[in-house]
Amino acid sequence: MNTSTIQPILVIVSAPSGTGKTTLCDRLLVEIPDMVYSVSCTTRLPRGEEIDGEDYHFLTETDFKARIEQGAFLEYAVVHGHYYGTLRESVAGALQDGESVLMDIDVQGAAQIRAALEAAGPEDPIGGHWTDIFISPPSIEALRERLEGRGEDAPEVIEARLENAGAEMARAGEYRHLVINDYLEAAYRCLHEIVVCEAGGDT
Ligand code: 5GP
Repeated sequence: MNTSTIQPILVIVSAPSGTGKTTLCDRLLVEIPDMVYSVSCTTRLPRGEEIDGEDYHFLTETDFKARIEQGAFLEYAVVHGHYYGTLRESVAGALQDGESVLMDIDVQGAAQIRAALEAAGPEDPIGGHWTDIFISPPSIEALRERLEGRGEDAPEVIEARLENAGAEMARAGEYRHLVINDYLEAAYRCLHEIVVCEAGGDT
């Protein structure tokens, strides 16, 4: 597999929680040359081992709103009751440095970015090469089994996640690509091939 010819690309990935997105994205970041993760801002509290500045920039709601006022976000949305947003500067900076950027954002944010990218001229640092991919569980039932099997969430949290997942899956058609994560290895191969092809490399 030749990934040496790929051009810097902005890759937008969305997936309902519990779909295996983090595992898939982490592997992509290791295997695609010069691809960096877009660290989002959020007002939710850190979970587990999460590190400020690495997993997210954890902000207070006041700070987040000040950045909205400053126009600092390329997109932002309220997800599960918290603000999440992507800083324009960090995405544009990486692309200008010749790096590919991987964004893990929800369907609302993806719609905003798509509109911004479609409106951006060729001189805009984010206006060039991009693609978007929706990663879906094989079914809501399969997702329920995974979330219950993980044993991390209370039943009412699982119900809320499933409801949200159904709403997100209904918008999968807005994305250029769909990857069904039924078998992790097959889903990864598919994701990798999409990114390499979109970036102009050979698979
Ligand atoms: P979590 O809190 O589980 O890390 O993420 C919850 C949801 O927020 C996920 O669907 C994730 O894709 C989304 N998300 C993370 N960062 C951003 C962002 O910068 N913008 C938007 N719109 N959604 C985000």
